Amino acid sequence: MSENSKIEWTDHTFNSWEGCQKVGPGCDHCYAEARNARFAGGTAVNWGPGAPRRRTSPANWRKPLAWNAAHAEFFAVHGRRQRVFCASLADVFDNAVDPAWRSDLWNLILETPNLDWLLLTKRIGNAQAMLPIAPPLSNVWLGATIVNQEEADRDIPKLLAVPARVRFLSMEPLLGDVDLTSIPWGGHRVSVLQGWNQPEHGIHWVIVGGESGPGARPMQPSWARAIRDQCTAAGVPFLFKQWGEWAPNWMNDDDGKIPGSEWMDRFGKRRAGRELDGRTHDEFPRGAR
Ligand code: SF4
Repeated sequence: MSENSKIEWTDHTFNSWEGCQKVGPGCDHCYAEARNARFAGGTAVNWGPGAPRRRTSPANWRKPLAWNAAHAEFFAVHGRRQRVFCASLADVFDNAVDPAWRSDLWNLILETPNLDWLLLTKRIGNAQAMLPIAPPLSNVWLGATIVNQEEADRDIPKLLAVPARVRFLSMEPLLGDVDLTSIPWGGHRVSVLQGWNQPEHGIHWVIVGGESGPGARPMQPSWARAIRDQCTAAGVPFLFKQWGEWAPNWMNDDDGKIPGSEWMDRFGKRRAGRELDGRTHDEFPRGAR
């Protein structure tokens, strides 16, 4: 399925296929699985081990070609290239997907050089082996979902090992405190926000967001502030996507409060909004064309 996306950091969303398997705590309330179940009348038919993944239609696969062709028009209005998020209903690096489908996706990315493809995965450990070496996909921004320190320690080094024009983190749903200035690397703990003095290294962009939907877990403001402050100190662009269901109780009423570093209330995603300490944070990677 593709659409003009409502997600704050992309212009389009493209799903080359649908279906997946849960791989970590960030998947607990997977929106895509719930959606798959709803369309199938109750139980998700494309989720879990052994479940078939569903390739989307040829008409859907033609949409990026149309977006690519509309580059000049878009650039004239916005002064930058279009961003395509792939994928919201699947994982590009899912082992259970037919390698021929993935190879078709790489070809589509090559055929659309005017688009920046944001490949965001919870399986970053597969990226190096699955991405093509030649020709390289120079219009790919490679991202890993990181929800807590354990995932940061385990997965950020894998992301850093893969060549990419832009490397980014989507820390949504953020479920705990994370220190990006202390990640294991070569027997030490290092900051992955410094780029080690070379722009092609390190993490180039960080997105933070809280969880939305039924059963959403609150994101403590101190967790979001810590990431913002680490990014600011290192000069790394930071985007605060949303609070999600829960937000700090700035209205000071007593309904539904739960204790934390600050009182949080269940406002719902729309009311909770996307301001952190009184302002939005909408930075993008430098040099993003
Ligand atoms: S990786 Fe993404 S699509 Fe797959 S189960 Fe987890 S949250 Fe859902």
